Amino acid sequence: MSEKDQVLAILARKIHGEVAGRIIERLIKVGEATDEQLSQALGIEIGTIRRVLNELYESRLVKYRRVRDEEQGWYLYYWRLTDEYPTRVLEERRRKAVEVLKRRLEFEKSNSFFYCPSCGTRFSFDEVADNMFRCPYCGTDLEALDGSLVTEKLEKAIKLLESIKFE
Ligand SMILES: [Zn+2]
Repeated sequence: MSEKDQVLAILARKIHGEVAGRIIERLIKVGEATDEQLSQALGIEIGTIRRVLNELYESRLVKYRRVRDEEQGWYLYYWRLTDEYPTRVLEERRRKAVEVLKRRLEFEKSNSFFYCPSCGTRFSFDEVADNMFRCPYCGTDLEALDGSLVTEKLEKAIKLLESIKFE
């Protein structure tokens, strides 16, 4: 197994879980496989294989070749590892994470939040206004939440992620 492939397998497992790691390892071994072949070889249900393959594709860890089955008239997808270096994958991942955190920060800054002192559930303004500022689960009066700690943490995480460069 080349170093690049090893890194891909580790990344796949870390980001998308155990099934993803096993799919990548299988693809390293056989080079190319359809979802059905992967399902049979790994003993994992085809629906799960397809879902994880799509996740891996979105992370750009795998790619596919589409072949029309002349007899059946539908397409077969042959999956294999990406040719891109993992740095490209990591960079893409980093960029997406920053985007998600920034959206989250924007949301935190433009909304006020409340929490239930007895069951600890957190609510946005819209969720509790209809309920007269009482917890919908236990009926306790809600208290306003100071959001500065959350935004501070988000800002720190964004700064950290923006300072990393993978390529
Ligand atoms: Zn409650």
